[in-house]
Amino acid sequence: MPAQIIDGKAIAESVRNQVAAETQQLIRDTGIVPHLAAVLVGNDPASEVYVRNKERACLKAGLRSTLHRLDAATTQADLLELIAALNHDRSVHGILVQLPLPKHLDATQILDAVLPTKDVDAFHPENTGLMFQGRPRFLPCTPAGAMKMLEVSNVSIAGRHAVVIGRSDIVGKPMAALLVQKGVDATVTICHSRTADIGAVCRTADILIAAVGIPEFVKSDMIKPGAVVIDVGINRVNERLVGDVDFTAVSAVASAITPVPGGVGPMTIAMLLQNTLKSARRC
Ligand code: NAP
Repeated sequence: MPAQIIDGKAIAESVRNQVAAETQQLIRDTGIVPHLAAVLVGNDPASEVYVRNKERACLKAGLRSTLHRLDAATTQADLLELIAALNHDRSVHGILVQLPLPKHLDATQILDAVLPTKDVDAFHPENTGLMFQGRPRFLPCTPAGAMKMLEVSNVSIAGRHAVVIGRSDIVGKPMAALLVQKGVDATVTICHSRTADIGAVCRTADILIAAVGIPEFVKSDMIKPGAVVIDVGINRVNERLVGDVDFTAVSAVASAITPVPGGVGPMTIAMLLQNTLKSARRC
């Protein structure tokens, strides 16, 4: 039987509708309008699209969104000055610095400069630490979106073996941290570019999360029959978006799978809105 398709678009829409309803309630009760400030440096075409989609989603859900566009040649000092101004602006509840930044900028220093209480991407080390300790202020958007997809699809996680391919600070590591939390209770393995016989490791996964950044890296012979496969990858191949999983072949072996596009991508934006609303509520 072909795998069930986990519809990220539909799940994200229901999260965004919930955020919209709660935003209206917050505005009625307090007059506070949740406000996301996005910072875009340069004009990377993919970043332009991501920022536009985030802006659009904010406005549709009744959140305020402002975009701060900076020239590709912006200096570290100028960018830090903007972040400081947004940190101090009481009307701003969430700050998003669109990555990647131009190479001459130190992204770690920039992200560390974002006030942790406005760090709705949850990239700041303080928020990472809180999340790892199981008392999150904000959950990182992409891993949280993947978790929400598992939850809504009634995938049982406790006691199952989850394999995460990728150990980035943005996806792989926080994904593994969320899966292993008490109450979620997966047994987790993290794979990376130095993992020996990655196919054999993946074949032991009840839940496989691919966050590699290589188009169709995960093949059907890496899948345990009946496994649930979450494809985080977004790769552009000949103007087409392709995930990190060979969707057609893997669908024939897995029990459930997320598509690309229409899988984890829309969930990331929905979780960003949720974090911005949460931040506004703390005011
Ligand atoms: P990243 O920082 O480049 O990390 C990629 C990870 O994959 C690294 O840990 C790397 O291992 C590992 N890797 C690379 N080649 C490998 C191989 N041959 N075998 C096993 N592991 C290998 O990427 P990322 O930021 O985590 O993003 C991963 C993917 O998710 C990308 O396609 C990205 O576009 C996508 N993404 C999607 C969303 C969304 O909203 N859906 C959000 C963020 C990212 P090493 O550590 O050993 O180098």
